[in-house]
Amino acid sequence: MTFQPNSLMDRALQAAAVAAKHAEAVDREGRFPHEARRAIAEARLFGAMIPKQFGGDGASLAEIAEVCCQLAHGCASTAMIYAMHQIKVSSLVAHGVGAPWHEEFMRRVVREQLLLGSATTEGGIGGDLRNSICAVVTDGDRFTLEKNATVISYGDDSDAILVTARRAPDAASSDQVMVVLRKQDYTLQKTVGWNTLGMRGTCSDGYVLKGAAGVEQVLPQPFAEIAAQSMLAMAHLLWSSLWYGIAASAAIKAQNFVRAEARKTPGKVPPGAMRVAEMNSKLQLMRSVILDGVRRYEDAREGGDDLGSVPFVVAMNNVKIGASQTMLEVINIAMNVCGIWGYKNDSPYSLCRELRDAYSAPIQINNDRILGNSSSLLLMNRIDTRLVI
Ligand SMILES: Cc1cc2nc3c(=O)[nH]c(=O)nc-3n(C[C@H](O)[C@H](O)[C@H](O)COP(=O)(O)OP(=O)(O)OC[C@H]3O[C@@H](n4cnc5c(N)ncnc54)[C@H](O)[C@@H]3O)c2cc1C
Repeated sequence: MTFQPNSLMDRALQAAAVAAKHAEAVDREGRFPHEARRAIAEARLFGAMIPKQFGGDGASLAEIAEVCCQLAHGCASTAMIYAMHQIKVSSLVAHGVGAPWHEEFMRRVVREQLLLGSATTEGGIGGDLRNSICAVVTDGDRFTLEKNATVISYGDDSDAILVTARRAPDAASSDQVMVVLRKQDYTLQKTVGWNTLGMRGTCSDGYVLKGAAGVEQVLPQPFAEIAAQSMLAMAHLLWSSLWYGIAASAAIKAQNFVRAEARKTPGKVPPGAMRVAEMNSKLQLMRSVILDGVRRYEDAREGGDDLGSVPFVVAMNNVKIGASQTMLEVINIAMNVCGIWGYKNDSPYSLCRELRDAYSAPIQINNDRILGNSSSLLLMNRIDTRLVI
């Protein structure tokens, strides 16, 4: 595939090649992918989604989804870091336009290729991002907050972190805001490490985060609206896009394995060939579900009022559930096809990293939690049975 020189996709492929080159070391050492981060910054991809009026490329969700997928072919941790950054950027784009501080911050993200992190998960709350224990404490035109953030990916390497908290110490746990803290606005004290099965390069350590900043750094809309209108859908769609990249990478290895077998025994169809066809049908299913989700999100943003509707929320939940499960099915089939060569860490057909990285998907906001959310919505609403309209 060739792309226009210096097009978004051309730049993404260059960064993806660097990420792939260092992926094994990143995984083995459980370290942040510094080389890939530099390559992404040099390719000016961190500001890709920011509107042109603030210096970015104004890239569409579909384009960013493709970048995530391409990065994941070589290094899932890099792709996850990039996806999480873009999910944060999407909140600024959707909810920060019109707020002078946030507009200037978006310009800085583009100019300085800043990397944005996320602190939603909290000790005592877990993955329930629509509730917080910590609160913003306002004093005049400044605020402070302290959060027991049990997971912040690339916390040490972020240039800014977007943090959820209750609006005030006397606010209900679900009455939340989201604040932007630049590196100079917070301190991080490490509480737990990240020695995990997969996604090791995300370095998702736990910290006590202490922040102090001007009140203008609080996003103007309530977090309930930010979550419903941009963050949740963007998370499900961009995560799923990179998971597709992991699954596709496993599928290619299995296909290459079968083709190599076929060359060794001309005239005979290798036993794994049928599994490759089966795997490919699952891959297509996964791709269709994600692309349908991307189209629905873009349509809903254009129309404006569908974003909070039950069918839309359930559809986005289904993308996450479906993609996280199908990815594992695809990799399992690929593992069966490649056999011992897939199981080895040091073979060209090794599927070990793909498999380990993929196991993060069902727990990155636990699928049971998401199914629990959809199940309550479906108690009161009909299942959407339309095919085309
Ligand atoms: C690679 C990776 C990177 C991450 N990066 C970040 C980050 O940068 N910032 C951040 O804030 N967080 C991050 N997270 C955390 C993530 O967003 C979730 O918060 C976390 O995975 C949930 O952790 P948990 O399983 O402890 O908690 P929970 O979601 O609370 O789940 C705990 C258990 O309770 C069950 N459960 C909970 N609620 C329900 C329910 N309603 N219905 C049924 N069962 C339920 C689940 O089955 C699960 O077994 C990351 C996670 C991963 C895997």
